[in-house]
Amino acid sequence: MEQEIYQKLTILAAAAKYDVSCSSSGSDKKGVKGLGSTSCAGICHTWGADGRCISLLKILMTNHCIYDCAYCLNRVTNDIARASFTPEEVVTLTMEFYRRNYIEGLFLSSAIEKNANATMERIVQVLSLLRHRERFGGYIHVKAIPGADAKLIHEAGLLADRMSVNIELATEEGLRLLAPQKKLEKLFLPMQQIKEEKMQIKEDKTKYRYTPDFVPAGQSTQMIIGATTETDRQILGRSDFLYQNYDMKRVYYSAYVPINAGENLPALQTAPPMVREHRIYQADWLLRYYSFGVDEILPETAANLDLEIDPKMMWALRNMNFFPVELNRASYSELLRIPGIGPLSARKITKQRKYAAITEHNVTKLGISLKKARYFITCNGKYLGGSQVPEPERLRSLVAPPPAYEQLSLGI
Ligand code: SF4
Repeated sequence: MEQEIYQKLTILAAAAKYDVSCSSSGSDKKGVKGLGSTSCAGICHTWGADGRCISLLKILMTNHCIYDCAYCLNRVTNDIARASFTPEEVVTLTMEFYRRNYIEGLFLSSAIEKNANATMERIVQVLSLLRHRERFGGYIHVKAIPGADAKLIHEAGLLADRMSVNIELATEEGLRLLAPQKKLEKLFLPMQQIKEEKMQIKEDKTKYRYTPDFVPAGQSTQMIIGATTETDRQILGRSDFLYQNYDMKRVYYSAYVPINAGENLPALQTAPPMVREHRIYQADWLLRYYSFGVDEILPETAANLDLEIDPKMMWALRNMNFFPVELNRASYSELLRIPGIGPLSARKITKQRKYAAITEHNVTKLGISLKKARYFITCNGKYLGGSQVPEPERLRSLVAPPPAYEQLSLGI
């Protein structure tokens, strides 16, 4: 690899590592002949020790930025090494890496170099070269740059598998403090366009035989956790809004990494606990797959998630009047409310009980985490959590994880 491209790659791959909105669940594109595949089995994604996705070639087009977002390494006021790829260089890297089996696809983000249109144009050029000239059929995820022309977003959407617009902060107030050049309404515009064009394509497919795909793997976004005083309730409320209004496939969360000093930022040594990011992901899962509402996960009296106990267990502890649930009679949605029971085990339960009653003897074969579920269920009328349902405080101590012990140094 030429030395100059290698140097750019070092800079622009490092600059992209704070963007976590690049996990892929693949997409199915029929009739595309050429190199690469986007089918679910063909795309695998792994995560680095710090939680970042590492299966795609993940780079920025450029880290020259005209914006000055307080939390960002690439902000215009930071004195850092800068570089920009040409579209040809990104194409060369992608094809070379793909042929060597290093990557399954490309995640291309970008800082905003001259303006939104110039940046988006270069992203579209990369997409066009990869898809049309190189006949690259692998997975591609690109950023939709807010403020870019709808025509450019449209062109990118016809060629990419997934697009994302990073909202970064949950509230207008958060943006005003840390990224004053960004406005929520401006960030929502490309999200709305992607949603509408996807719906149009879906409708066209019912009428016309040859209809091109548009962002077939859907759109995603990312929010930073802990850079402002935004509460988990505000963050989950925003996620819920995005899922409901823009058909968002995923909202990714990234615990704030304190790389810059600033009066509106947390102090450099005070990174938020990673467990907070984990709890928000769990709550997000409850929104998407368990039909929980934000108000159920976090009632008005609770601004933030409990760091010790997972959000579903916390809901159960607050709603003990709902339990115990009889496994042989509960509906699917009631089963999903039980800690230790997920969609898969709930489906197994509803299927199994058509043939035989679920008893304390066969309940372990249904994929239930009995360690959690036992305090909340009955099987054929028998309560599995002891002689009686414990009081909430006692129950909390029973289900809380054991304290983490510190490894002491021998001092040798
Ligand atoms: S626009 Fe993006 S790259 Fe530029 S400073 Fe803001 S977050 Fe960083």
